[in-house]
Amino acid sequence: MISVAIDGPAGAGKSTLARKAAAELGFIYVDTGALYRTVGLKFSKMGANTDLNCDIPSVLADTTVDIRFVDGEQRVFLDGVDVSEEIRTPVASMMASAVSAKGEVRAFLLEMQRKLARENNVLMDGRDIGTVVLPNATVKIFLTASAEERARRRYDELINKGMTVTFKEVYDDMVQRDYNDSHREIAPLKQADDAVLADTTGLEPQESLELILNIVKERI
Ligand code: C5P
Repeated sequence: MISVAIDGPAGAGKSTLARKAAAELGFIYVDTGALYRTVGLKFSKMGANTDLNCDIPSVLADTTVDIRFVDGEQRVFLDGVDVSEEIRTPVASMMASAVSAKGEVRAFLLEMQRKLARENNVLMDGRDIGTVVLPNATVKIFLTASAEERARRRYDELINKGMTVTFKEVYDDMVQRDYNDSHREIAPLKQADDAVLADTTGLEPQESLELILNIVKERI
């Protein structure tokens, strides 16, 4: 099986680019951020805030997260309910970042991700795919762009979805999440030694896609 790991900070365009690149390559696209968002949503439904002052193992023991592919599109299910849209709010983003720092949560989601890569040709995006989840991935890419540009893209995306947010909120959230993700003790966001750096600052979406596809095609 072939696996392409794409890691990088929030808003680098990973999901949009990875989805398109996967379609082009005929691989399954796995968005691992959606898994952390789903677990974050569960904790928020249990009344927890980002301090997570609750019994994490017992919440997880009572949680099922499933990934299913409907017409090639990934959908995520929390306790049997499709939450693919509900996990996209700014609150769910912050909760995802909070739960993702917990070793119990990372362990809870690890095998599911590895199994998908054992059974399919995958293009998987996240923060620790090349470093922890698939250390033997066929191709590893670290995708990034400036914080300004990443916040601008995320802001446009949320506005297009009809959400009421300001640019400053999105930018501050992004910087906060970058900080949390790169400074946590377990599986912090960092470029794997053998990953190729792809910086999309100033590139059009089509140019970024070509950059990714070229990196992959050169290596498989
Ligand atoms: O990629 P996305 O922004 O949807 O991810 C939401 C959050 O989930 C991230 O901020 C990060 O904290 C966490 N995450 C992670 N490891 C991954 C994917 C996401 O810790 N592989």
